[in-house]
Amino acid sequence: MPRSAPGSSSAGHPGPRRDPVPSLLPVPSAGTTGATLLLNATYEPLCVVSSRRAIVLVLAEKAESVDSAPEVVHAETVSLAVPVVVRLTRFVRVPYPASVPLSRRAVFTRDGQTCVYCGGSATSIDHVVPRSRGGTHTWDNVVAACRRCNHTKADRSLAELGWALPHPPRTPSGAAWRLLGTRSVDPRWREWLGMPESVSA
Ligand SMILES: [Zn+2]
Repeated sequence: MPRSAPGSSSAGHPGPRRDPVPSLLPVPSAGTTGATLLLNATYEPLCVVSSRRAIVLVLAEKAESVDSAPEVVHAETVSLAVPVVVRLTRFVRVPYPASVPLSRRAVFTRDGQTCVYCGGSATSIDHVVPRSRGGTHTWDNVVAACRRCNHTKADRSLAELGWALPHPPRTPSGAAWRLLGTRSVDPRWREWLGMPESVSA
């Protein structure tokens, strides 16, 4: 039986991998965000994926459901509670950005949605050393502030006002922060992100 020449057969080459898609997909309801926290096999948070994607991963046995919503999705042969948190069955190595992107949402989250000067509800971000005086737009010089404090402070320094910060603004680090700059956080993700219950996002 003659063997075919190498490369002449297309069989056996997987090509771009397509996951099986459940025939019926979940419709996000009031109880779900439609988003699922994806953990590495080590339980380290990796990223947020759509609930639809998480279901595909679970059905393909690439991930297991760690926490789920009351809603149930029916695929061809199985019923599955919509996953809120899933964990990869195999460890993946992911290169992380060296620093967390500075954004208004991330600053508000770091500072607990409160003004660092008076503890009121934060509505804006403030440059501790005013930009007009060479202050930088960096994590160690940007804080959450209320409108009143921001207006009062204007382009003056803390020393001129006699104000003080409760603690130096720091650059956030850790797994949770890779997720916080871009989206709100499902309360059910908090324990996996190492976030206190009191900090809302
Ligand atoms: Zn204030």
